[in-house]
Amino acid sequence: MFFASDNSGPVPKQVLQALTQANTGYAMGYGADDEMAEVTARIREIFEAPEAAVHLVATGTAANSLALATLCQPFETIFCTPVAHIHEDECNAPEFYTGGAKLTLVPGAAGSDDKMTPAALHATIAREESRGVHGPQRGPVSITQVTGRGTIYALDEIKAIAQVTRDFGLPLHMDGARFTNALVALGCTPAEMTWKAGVDAVCFGGTKNGLMGVEAVIFFDPKHAWEFEVRRKRGGHLFSKHRYLSAQMLAYLTDDLWRDNARKANANCAYLAAGLEQKGAPFLHEAQANMIFAALPRATHQRLFEAGAIYHLWDGPLEGDPEQEVTARFVCDWALSKDLIDQFLDLL
Ligand SMILES: *Cc1c(COP(=O)(O)O)cnc(C)c1O
Repeated sequence: MFFASDNSGPVPKQVLQALTQANTGYAMGYGADDEMAEVTARIREIFEAPEAAVHLVATGTAANSLALATLCQPFETIFCTPVAHIHEDECNAPEFYTGGAKLTLVPGAAGSDDKMTPAALHATIAREESRGVHGPQRGPVSITQVTGRGTIYALDEIKAIAQVTRDFGLPLHMDGARFTNALVALGCTPAEMTWKAGVDAVCFGGTKNGLMGVEAVIFFDPKHAWEFEVRRKRGGHLFSKHRYLSAQMLAYLTDDLWRDNARKANANCAYLAAGLEQKGAPFLHEAQANMIFAALPRATHQRLFEAGAIYHLWDGPLEGDPEQEVTARFVCDWALSKDLIDQFLDLL
């Protein structure tokens, strides 16, 4: 009954088989392996972007930080929401890799902090360059798809944000740690969710959706390729035995494994959400992808934890008034089974 995060499950056998297969003979290092050429071709095809620059790194933090550093000067600021992973969960790596750029927080719609609205983004950007040489200069806008609250930007919402960034001449970055969970939920193409909507760079996550540790950084304008390469090397994220990253990504993109895994994860979450709803647990947002936030009485959490359920409490400690409701985060990955979810719901 493991709902703590979608990086906690196993790796699909196809990925391990691909690693075994890649583990014969010799291959050039540092991304010059044949598999990487195939990964690049495959990603360009999937994204309908024949010129795109494609690079692999092993963590989402490296992907985001190095991508943003490539799009941002040290004297600029990056616009993101208060719950963006780059703000809350990367230990200032974006600030570090950009050489000191700031993050400027864009409020969400009333009662919600997960998605930035075009109006709030416009107002925040407009305010940010009013101090001439003394203040931070405007830099990239970064959105997260799926958001840290498990919600999804609709294509029109991405387009409206991209319109604001374009009005100010700024680049748009997408943290896609859960890219495919959003993609299959929207039922759109990767191109529609990115460059066709105005996204300039995307971190295309693999790890949360079944890989052992691979994320692809994609720039739709290949002019960024070389700068990203030298930043990745300087940042210590250019893998020497690179073929083992390539082999994982290739397996991910073969026979629709990436989409199948995301569909399974989303279906698991929908199933869990339906069960929680039946028990009357209020949600922060309805289930859209593979993550939900639901409130339960503290005594219920205590009982579930004691019985072996694993998940994170979001807005309160485990100790305290047993009747008080505490919101918890539940994340489902591709490998969870209905049996395990049923086991959890029976306990509940
Ligand atoms: C998990 C996650 C990442 C990547 O984090 P790492 O731990 O560095 O791999 C990036 N963005 C979001 C929104 C995430 O949930």
